[in-house]
Amino acid sequence: MYHPDVIRHPESCPALVLNADYTPLSYYPLSLWPWQTAIKAVFLDRVDIVSTYEREVHSPSFQMKIPSVIALKQYVRPSAYPAFTRFNLFLRDRFTCQYCGSPHDLTFDHVVPRRAGGRTTWENVATACSPCNLRKGGRTPKEAHMKLTVPPIRPTTWQLQEHGRAFPPNHLHDSWHDWLYWDVELLA
Ligand SMILES: [Zn+2]
Repeated sequence: MYHPDVIRHPESCPALVLNADYTPLSYYPLSLWPWQTAIKAVFLDRVDIVSTYEREVHSPSFQMKIPSVIALKQYVRPSAYPAFTRFNLFLRDRFTCQYCGSPHDLTFDHVVPRRAGGRTTWENVATACSPCNLRKGGRTPKEAHMKLTVPPIRPTTWQLQEHGRAFPPNHLHDSWHDWLYWDVELLA
């Protein structure tokens, strides 16, 4: 499964960015900054270093361990609604076809087809497997005699995070676990 939070190059040492209340600034996508951005923010006094990698960066005038977790000094109000992205849409629908429930071969279906004026919005796009998408064709669910299990809605950030518990990223640095709700103990 494609997950945008997968760190393809863990050796690139990204920093997990926490808000001033020590919750991640964002889950979808996970708030990660390149180490260069993180170090710049340290020097601008905008963040506190919470945890570091073993790796160090050197220059003629200084040396420091690369931050693995940083926290903003000033609280940023989280947005109530997540970004409209392919991944977030799949996550809203829990990676299942909204017509038959299949988790395989997923695509996007315009509920009201584009040619009938259907727009590409949270409310008009649903996860559908290829067979269902083909079967439905350029018709509305009613015309195609197909029923959506859940009508598509614009999810709140909170709703998406609730769904996200079931789909943790594949790679998380050890020092991030304390700050992420993917920690299983929190679910117990
Ligand atoms: Zn289907």
